[in-house]
Amino acid sequence: MKIGVLALQGAVTEHIKAIEACGSEAIPIKTATQLQSIDGLLLPGGESTAMRRLIYYGNMLPALQAFAESKPVFGTCAGLILLASSVEGEEAHIGQMNITARRNAFGRQIHSFETPLVIKGVSDNFPAVFIRAPKIASVGEGVEILATLDGDIVCARDRHLLACSFHPELTKDYSLMSYFIEMCK
Ligand code: GLN
Repeated sequence: MKIGVLALQGAVTEHIKAIEACGSEAIPIKTATQLQSIDGLLLPGGESTAMRRLIYYGNMLPALQAFAESKPVFGTCAGLILLASSVEGEEAHIGQMNITARRNAFGRQIHSFETPLVIKGVSDNFPAVFIRAPKIASVGEGVEILATLDGDIVCARDRHLLACSFHPELTKDYSLMSYFIEMCK
């Protein structure tokens, strides 16, 4: 399996290490043409506004949208925002996953926290790290909710697209990454 990590901004190195720990090859993706060589794509956390600008500067948006139409993509934190078909208060970006994202829904950087989560089909005790995290305000038809936190949706799957509000790459628990790699097979 070759899993690409969008490498324009954000938690790129940590995701590369996590993918390699799962026994797959990780490829940093900086151009549209590189998308042709991968089986799945990871959109890291970071700052979605910055990533969005870099995607436009690199003229990568059409290729990313085409990739996400049929190939597996996993958006984490800011990556969830990029993948959402609707983002409250602003335009959608890549926009292929049938969810509405609400940015910074858990407060500011100083309100960062870690909490154990039940993720359906993945883990009963996942150490989820939230950093200026978005929530999934609502999901469209056919989208499976995989995890909630105090009633808020924080992980979901829409066909071949997966998204979570938190940062799986910041822990040594690779169960959610393994789940995504299975989706790529
Ligand atoms: N708050 C960031 C955004 O809106 C996401 C934060 C993160 O990825 N840790 O893009």
